[in-house]
Amino acid sequence: MATARLRTYRRKRDFDATPEPSGEARGGVTPGGHYFVVHLHHARSVHYDFRLQVGDTLRSWAVPKGPSLDPARKRLAVQVEDHPLDYGTFEGDIPSGQYGAGKVWIWDRGTWVPHGDPEKALKEGHLSFTLEGKRLSGDWSLIRTRLAGRQPQWLLIKARDAAARTGDGADDTPLSKWSGRRRSSRSTSRPQAKRAPARRVK
Ligand code: MN
Repeated sequence: MATARLRTYRRKRDFDATPEPSGEARGGVTPGGHYFVVHLHHARSVHYDFRLQVGDTLRSWAVPKGPSLDPARKRLAVQVEDHPLDYGTFEGDIPSGQYGAGKVWIWDRGTWVPHGDPEKALKEGHLSFTLEGKRLSGDWSLIRTRLAGRQPQWLLIKARDAAARTGDGADDTPLSKWSGRRRSSRSTSRPQAKRAPARRVK
């Protein structure tokens, strides 16, 4: 089953060139559990990738602005191809020229608790769940919209509970936590895309 669900993931990637897992080896994430991970991805545009283990793959959404703890700040979450379970522990540098080129870090991870049957909820386009991560916790929902797009457009929304924050403070966690890594990575990852045209013998 995972093989069929991973067809798109594999088609997009050249595993001789990218350090990303092909999904053939099992590692990191226990099958049958409810693992979640949020990657910070310095691709052409910096974004977060939100992934929930459902069955034997990680269902994945690209969240341009990252999750917000403010229930009023609904975040666009574009559904992308399922990723293999062993992507759950992946961090690395996808070389330029490859799909999704740029650095990938784990920004948060933990377990999640679906409210009801997740397969059914995903089909219906309304998934409610609890996150138990280091940065993200409390209740959340993912709601599929009718916005036009090549891929399904969802909204990732924090529920009103004790883990919610409002106002600008709601986004401090995402921004402040990765700014340090962004600074330290800049010398190695950021210039890579721009290095080629600027390369000259010194
Ligand atoms: Mn990404």
